[in-house]
Amino acid sequence: MRRLPTFGNRSAQRVLLHLTENKNLLREIITALHIIDEKAQKCDICCNIDVENPCYICRDERRNDSVICIVQDVNALWAMEKAHAFKGKYHVLGGLLSALNNVTPTSLPIEQLLSRIANDSVKEIIIGIGATLDGQVTSHYISGIIAKNNYNIKVSKIAFGIPMGGDLDYMDESTLKVALEMRTNVTPV
Ligand SMILES: [Zn+2]
Repeated sequence: MRRLPTFGNRSAQRVLLHLTENKNLLREIITALHIIDEKAQKCDICCNIDVENPCYICRDERRNDSVICIVQDVNALWAMEKAHAFKGKYHVLGGLLSALNNVTPTSLPIEQLLSRIANDSVKEIIIGIGATLDGQVTSHYISGIIAKNNYNIKVSKIAFGIPMGGDLDYMDESTLKVALEMRTNVTPV
């Protein structure tokens, strides 16, 4: 438990004690974890995580196919979904370009994004990546490569009403909604 993100010694102990005293809850969690272990997988289209492939978002025909929002990770996708601000599709990077952590463009599903743009009727790419240093480098790289390929689509970037370095995951829902509505066009690089 201690090895899980956000859990410290004390909270891990508290959770385990609570589960030993609430066996029904413990069993429900075990069943849910089994399902995750057996079925959770990366969506072949957008790299979201779901128990089905393609994921529930890619399968949803009511969503707008022509707009793709690029997010850093599944946490950011969930934050966007919670804000009910976006009805298009996503592309989950699963990380950011980082010289320090040796994350290069080939380690991220960027080729996959480009083939979605080339093959589907995509009209707009929204870069929904946080304004951290790695986030800015990644946004710049992606908008540059889209411009270089001359796809003739709109590329925009969500606005940030939050301090620099903020992460989507930590934005409250209304801030996120405004950030999406106030998105700005990215000048071709
Ligand atoms: Zn998907």
